[in-house]
Amino acid sequence: MITSCVFCKIVRGEIPCDRLYEDDEVLAFLDIAPLSLGHALVIPKEHHTSLTTVPAALSGRLIEVAARLGPALMRATDAGGFNLILANGEVAGQVVPHVHLHVVPRSVDDAVVMPVSRVAYASPAAKAAILEAARARLS
Ligand SMILES: [Zn+2]
Repeated sequence: MITSCVFCKIVRGEIPCDRLYEDDEVLAFLDIAPLSLGHALVIPKEHHTSLTTVPAALSGRLIEVAARLGPALMRATDAGGFNLILANGEVAGQVVPHVHLHVVPRSVDDAVVMPVSRVAYASPAAKAAILEAARARLS
């Protein structure tokens, strides 16, 4: 627990939330600035700034809860699908430094805009260099 962390404060009950789900490890609640109706956040109760420090079993629990919440939120909001979004790091758009998985119900006529820009590798060699560097760090 981090004293100044807003999500840790929610876990401790110091800040109210619209609680959807809770167990010993995971808490899910409605986002206070929703991208769509029913937009929820799934967080580990244990403080982790980054997904990279969350133990594998716990990160699996986040996905498990999100996979249950998605259909429940779809039914509750008449949505046709949902996105899971995890912004890891400030440059990726992470605002609260306590890892959180967004569950965003989607409808044909919603106002959610997903990134549409694409990039191109400078060359096949540049692509191969990135591929090899990433593979090397996985082993
Ligand atoms: Zn925290």
